[in-house]
Amino acid sequence: MSDMVHHELPTPPHIRLLPDEVIERIAAGEVIERPASVVRELLDNALDSGARAIRVELRDGGLRLIRVADDGCGIRADDLPLACAPHTTSKVASLADLDTIHTLGFRGEALASIATVAELEIVSACDDSSLAASLSLHADGTQVRRAVARACGTTVTVRNLFTAVPARRALLRGPRGEAARVLAIVRAYALAYPAVSFTLSGDGHLILQTHGAGLESAVTTIYGSDAGKALLPLEFVALEQASITGAVANRAFSFPARDHVVLAVNGRPVTNRALLAAAEAGYRPLLRKGRHPLLVVNLTVPPDRVDPNIHPAKAEVLLRDEAALAAALRTAVHATLGAAPLSIGHEPPSGARFRPVQPIQLRLPSMRRRRAPRLAERAAPRYTAAPLPSPDEDAERRAGLTALGQFDDTLILARSAAGSLYLVDQHRAHERALYERLKQQVSSLSKPDTPPLDDEPPDSPRQLLMEPVLVELTPLQAARLAPRTTELTSLGLECQDFGGSVFLIRSLPDIPGAASSPAAFAAELAQAAAEDTDDWLDHVCVSLACRSAIRRGQPLSPSRQQALLDGLQSLPARAVCPHGSPLLLRLTTAYLSRTFEW
Ligand code: ADP
Ligand code: MG
Repeated sequence: MSDMVHHELPTPPHIRLLPDEVIERIAAGEVIERPASVVRELLDNALDSGARAIRVELRDGGLRLIRVADDGCGIRADDLPLACAPHTTSKVASLADLDTIHTLGFRGEALASIATVAELEIVSACDDSSLAASLSLHADGTQVRRAVARACGTTVTVRNLFTAVPARRALLRGPRGEAARVLAIVRAYALAYPAVSFTLSGDGHLILQTHGAGLESAVTTIYGSDAGKALLPLEFVALEQASITGAVANRAFSFPARDHVVLAVNGRPVTNRALLAAAEAGYRPLLRKGRHPLLVVNLTVPPDRVDPNIHPAKAEVLLRDEAALAAALRTAVHATLGAAPLSIGHEPPSGARFRPVQPIQLRLPSMRRRRAPRLAERAAPRYTAAPLPSPDEDAERRAGLTALGQFDDTLILARSAAGSLYLVDQHRAHERALYERLKQQVSSLSKPDTPPLDDEPPDSPRQLLMEPVLVELTPLQAARLAPRTTELTSLGLECQDFGGSVFLIRSLPDIPGAASSPAAFAAELAQAAAEDTDDWLDHVCVSLACRSAIRRGQPLSPSRQQALLDGLQSLPARAVCPHGSPLLLRLTTAYLSRTFEW
């Protein structure tokens, strides 16, 4: 059925009982171990049926309910009971077929296996005109058939998995852990099949959605637009009768676990040790220790050179010419990732270093202004023994600075009322002002009795993300982050523990720049919030401020320059950035006079 043209669905083939000789050759073993294995089997069936849109729905991580709906060719009403019987399939008819498997399914066991450990309901229609047939298999063995309304396609619902087999159920993780495994499976399929649209929801919340618009689009909706843009097609490696295609995101998008390395052999997401090791050998020298890339590899080989019939859950395959394919994969990954720039952020401008946004007037202290302190200085000894103290930097800054222009898109040149020349680092100045604002928000949140500041609502404004961003942490980090989510939410960072060390970020604090790369931003905030310190909220503020602040290299309008300087007026203490680095340089009139020997 893989030959099927997706747009025109054929009439479904008949389902038959496999001959004994085939049944004997099929790898026996446990097919269904947990919700994720059910989902995997149902995704295989949906894809084999030529589906272009697949929806997966979970309740309680799939323990209470798993539903997979597709818009594929459907199952003939008469074949429904057969579909659920052991060793029945429409995909393989003879021993010879087993050597050239074109479909994801081939052993005719999935639906039957599911039916033995859960309640199974299948609703399927082969065209849009007639009614769909529905078949329910209950735990007590009763079967119920009905006719219901449904467009062409199939919906399989699996309820109460392992309820009747408590020993198996006891081996499962909780709903969140199981949901995280389902997410990993759906994500892998969504990346391996970017032309198909996938939707995963859990307990009514949307978890993942792709639009069937290609790999870049899939990566963008799953990992954020920066990751999509950072994606590079794998370098071509010449192979006889085989091909390697795919993409890798540049090194800025590495992860602490291998979960974002997807390897599909003839469309089947698998874990083939040799190939995964080869991929890693390709990226390892280019990434920090313990980091793994976002990598999607599609390996296509003639069907007689791959045997998917070695693993009961079809998660592994045996490849002929494995060593040659592995070597090619290693070369492709290494060449692509090695050629990729490290980040897609703003490249510092080269060439012209001076960008006046208005005719720059580098007015050095005027004679009049310069003279005034001089007179004072001269006069001073008459009245006091000590020289007049030069105006203190903090006081000068608080009195206000006037923007003169921007240097190199990096520094704002400014003048104080007392005539000093200031060079202000635009990034650090903005960072510090944002940090102060966030700290104020945090302290007003932690003191619920104090009335909110006039211009700050008690709950911080947030930007809802179109798609939630998934952040994976280590188990230790996850355990620390979980109890902190309420405080983060009140900062505008809505963070939901999804289990399995995965968190869903649904909104970001509404500060400038936050939404431009939501995935990276969310990941950084989650890391900061998971730090092993009582000061974690402060770390989040620092991280937020740093991320959102105007970058160096960004041209600023005169009013924007002035606004940044005005932000410095209210700084309570030393003019340093939240990381403690200096944010301004001050050249006093006295210093200038001395240096120029005026
Ligand atoms: P296999 O996929 O190995 O054939 P399964 O038990 O998964 O075995 O499915 C049995 C049969 O039911 C399939 O061969 C196919 O004909 C039919 N079937 C199952 N799911 C679907 C679906 N979503 N759309 C169309 N046909 C399906
Ligand atoms: Mg199947």
